[in-house]
Amino acid sequence: MGRFHPEVVIVEALKQKIRDEGIVLSEQVLKVDAFLNHQIDPVLMQKIGLEFARRFAGQGITKIVTIEASGIAPAVMAGLELGIPVIFARKFQSLTLKDDLLISRVFSFTKQTESTIAISARHLTSRDKVLVIDDFLANGHAAKALIDLIQQAGAEVAGIGIVIEKSFQDGRGLLESEGYRVESLARIAALENGQVRFLDDCCAD
Ligand code: 5GP
Repeated sequence: MGRFHPEVVIVEALKQKIRDEGIVLSEQVLKVDAFLNHQIDPVLMQKIGLEFARRFAGQGITKIVTIEASGIAPAVMAGLELGIPVIFARKFQSLTLKDDLLISRVFSFTKQTESTIAISARHLTSRDKVLVIDDFLANGHAAKALIDLIQQAGAEVAGIGIVIEKSFQDGRGLLESEGYRVESLARIAALENGQVRFLDDCCAD
């Protein structure tokens, strides 16, 4: 019966999309260029935004912070539902983003390099309560760097919303051990034999 609750339908739609269009590149990396990381499925993003908004409703959240580029689509949809602005951290200092910068360093899981991310201090204040949103959670480096930027502004972190969590990596454990609430829509237990196995898939054996 619970299967027909809207939140279950949204999570199932996301999981089915991952099964149908995700490409398992290795036991560590899933490619979702068909609907999230390159081509974007706006209808699915809208549902994802709805679900984040439902999970974090009524908590006085004032801003969403994400990281360019792939966090932007789900973050904007959540911001639309919650009626709040969305800030995306930039991965380098552009010419139009000169002073008053909050800066952090992040190790990129996919590129295996460290880069600088920044947001303008003008957009976050100590009165803000912030939801962090990202496309993937692996080891938690991106989320930690975003939390660092939010804390530099003196703002409060309300929680972390993730579209696809690879639960076999350390990100959730790290963030929860520091007291943060992590809400992931799809949780992957393993990438094995070219297949995605979700945490809540029922065990055939
Ligand atoms: P973390 O910082 O948690 O180690 O990794 C999360 C970041 O790396 C996300 O912002 C995401 O862009 C990227 N990422 C991590 N794992 C994957 C993956 O399996 N597939 C894709 N497409 N991106 C990933």
